Amino acid sequence: MSVNKKAFIELKNKLDAQQVELVAVSKTKPIADIKELVDLGQRDFGENYVQELVEKAAMLPADIRWHFIGHLQSNKVKQIAAFVHLIHGVDSLKLLQEINKQATKLGRTINCLLQIHIAQEETKFGLDESELVAIMKEVGDQKFPHVHVRGLMGMASFSDDEQQVANEFASLKKLFDAYPTFTILSMGMSGDYELALAAGSTMLRVGSLLFGERG
Ligand SMILES: *Cc1c(COP(=O)(O)O)cnc(C)c1O
Repeated sequence: MSVNKKAFIELKNKLDAQQVELVAVSKTKPIADIKELVDLGQRDFGENYVQELVEKAAMLPADIRWHFIGHLQSNKVKQIAAFVHLIHGVDSLKLLQEINKQATKLGRTINCLLQIHIAQEETKFGLDESELVAIMKEVGDQKFPHVHVRGLMGMASFSDDEQQVANEFASLKKLFDAYPTFTILSMGMSGDYELALAAGSTMLRVGSLLFGERG
């Protein structure tokens, strides 16, 4: 079994003491592994792919809170809209509009985070500061009544340069602090969560530390 229960318990205790939430990132990992953490009390799990999330959700307890942390295509929103707990990677008005549309049909409000591009790498998705301001203007104008924008999400550069990573997290924290209605700052993964905590993260997304390396 690849699930590292000891690492989970240690991390969970540490985060509980700081009132930081833990999303266990279970992408590519089997149902049996997820169940091991469910048995230890974990309820928040993160997935990156719509198909995989839909299949897993159907096989696992209904009280699990599913976080969609990948890049979400507008045409797939409807597959997860009925049950998703929090969508972390919202990076366009078009996507926000589609989430609002599907949530309206279902008569529910869907929690979302706006993804900000903080890394040096070109490949990572996300909004820049001016795009964030533009989207928050529309949100403030009540354009998306069935979406609740709870805060921000970001991924730092994959780098050994701790100062670089710390600076990137600090830039995200600064944007987060500019909006008093925000309550969730989703930043920090297996390799950089200590730096994310130091920078003021309220929610970590941790996969390989808990489930072992992905193939
Ligand atoms: C895979 C993934 C994680 C978890 O990464 P680990 O390094 O395995 O902890 C966190 N956030 C996002 C967006 C991911 O895609």
